[in-house]
Amino acid sequence: MIKAKKSLGQNFLIDKNILEKITNITKIKDKIVLEIGPGTGNLTSYILKKKPKKFCVIEKDEQLAINLREKFNNQLSIINNDVLKIDEENLFREKATVFGNLPYNISTEILSKWIKNLNNNFWFDCLVLMFQKEVADRIIAEFNTKNYGRLSIICNWKLNIHKICDIKPEAFKPKPKIYSSLLFFHPKKNFIKINDPNNLEKVTRVFFNQRRKMIKKPFNQLFNGDQRVLNKLKINLNLRPQNLNIDTYYKLAQEYENLRS
Ligand code: SAM
Repeated sequence: MIKAKKSLGQNFLIDKNILEKITNITKIKDKIVLEIGPGTGNLTSYILKKKPKKFCVIEKDEQLAINLREKFNNQLSIINNDVLKIDEENLFREKATVFGNLPYNISTEILSKWIKNLNNNFWFDCLVLMFQKEVADRIIAEFNTKNYGRLSIICNWKLNIHKICDIKPEAFKPKPKIYSSLLFFHPKKNFIKINDPNNLEKVTRVFFNQRRKMIKKPFNQLFNGDQRVLNKLKINLNLRPQNLNIDTYYKLAQEYENLRS
């Protein structure tokens, strides 16, 4: 009997309908598949049934990795490591389809790392990822809503994102206190070019530092009141950070980048 480790966000998905649904979202047959945090291998088994060409999993928990080796023998390659330390870009020669019922405590860290490191040659063709519902709501939030913020802006920069469904706590064991949401991500063909993603991080961090205040102060802090930028991007300094649409943030990051180069 496996005792779930809270520190590793171990809530194992047991609902067979949801497991089936996840593996029907995108084609798996003959694809290169990567699963993050396979745990006890519930989703892993469902993915295997769909016959991927190559299947690799990354699991940090040593005991779970040993169990997975016993359970699945030679059907997949198992990397017993922290996903945050893996260079996914160089794992495969073809684009991967990525699945993950992510450990909630580091889910945004994983996604931010991937987005930050994405060059224009995406190493994946899509991501099917489970998040805590509150986090998913922030990822997909539109501007002018309370959930809109840094995470929405950074995640939507290079990726199209769709919510598949919300999932009840009863679908997991042990049962978490929160709802989860399943999101589907696929690369955008066109996105606003920002050479250094740190500039987008910086702009969003400064603007959303005080989300209830008007944007005059953060704008002046970054752009020293530059009227040319205000006119070009048609920005009204009496607005609040959540009132600027997503493209305006990408353009602000571009302007900030130009200013510093
Ligand atoms: N995929 C399984 C399922 O749906 O039943 C388990 C999901 S559970 C929410 C998260 C899994 O990620 C656990 O197996 C946990 O040990 C693993 N994990 C936690 N932190 C990790 C990390 N930094 N790198 C890789 N795996 C991690």
